[in-house]
Amino acid sequence: MSHPDFSAATCSATIAYRGRLAPSPTGYLHLGHAKTFWTAQERARAHGGTLVLRSEDLDRHRVRPEFATAMLEDLRWFGLAWQEGPDCGGAFGPYTQSERLPRYQAAFEQLRAAGFLFPCVCSRQEVRRALQAPHAGDEEPLYPGTCRQLAAAAVASGDPRVNWRFRIPDGERVTFTDGHAGQQQFVAGRDFGDFVVWTREGFPSYQLAVVVDDAAMRITEVVRGADLLASTARQLLLYRALGLAPPAFFHCPLVTDDRGVRLAKRHDALSLRAQRAAGRTPEEIRAGW
Ligand code: GLU
Repeated sequence: MSHPDFSAATCSATIAYRGRLAPSPTGYLHLGHAKTFWTAQERARAHGGTLVLRSEDLDRHRVRPEFATAMLEDLRWFGLAWQEGPDCGGAFGPYTQSERLPRYQAAFEQLRAAGFLFPCVCSRQEVRRALQAPHAGDEEPLYPGTCRQLAAAAVASGDPRVNWRFRIPDGERVTFTDGHAGQQQFVAGRDFGDFVVWTREGFPSYQLAVVVDDAAMRITEVVRGADLLASTARQLLLYRALGLAPPAFFHCPLVTDDRGVRLAKRHDALSLRAQRAAGRTPEEIRAGW
């Protein structure tokens, strides 16, 4: 089964460009974030557009207030500026996901009412994983479909604290043209399985929250790391199920350390804070790219 390409129409002169920076305050930002965010800023500037800052703080097991403070400080130090989001003179924002739960809840209810979801009694670990964007190495194993047949009614009469998964259209090819990586194709059921959209703790997964927000904030192009390409395929299915128009996508190559390992928040020495403490300037860092 296949269907037309999901790609958004290229940003035309009549639609103002709106990009976003969507960091999570779950650790210190590193050189990889800086490079992707710089690309996002350059693209917004080149289009005479607006850049929105959104704090993705739904993973309450990992979010810490000191990371949220450091995040704003580090972004500014690096020379990033946003026109909407936290600390924008109160005109727009702050866009903080934990303050936007009713929007995600409404999207969840819409998907559930339309029959796109099924209840699932999966493990705590899987649910925790759903709260974060799946970066390289943390993609979930293909869901084996265990709870697909679990009738919602049976669940409703028992433990109401179930998680809800999106039933993917098995075998469907999801294609889109990425602004950087080019033509992409993912097969539902082969490259990714039924994914969590709502957890028993009453929180949306990363996949649902990001779609609801990118649509609500009228983002025209999502610029982020290449390890989220497969997440884009999942998100395109959510856009379609919710009747929303998807943005365009531009996935940047990942930054790796000197051993070729993708940077993660555990690479302390490559955090922007550590670089700054070591006397490096943003200009020097950018000159090395
Ligand atoms: N908040 C996500 C992260 O820091 C980014 C997700 C996205 O850009 O879609 O990994």
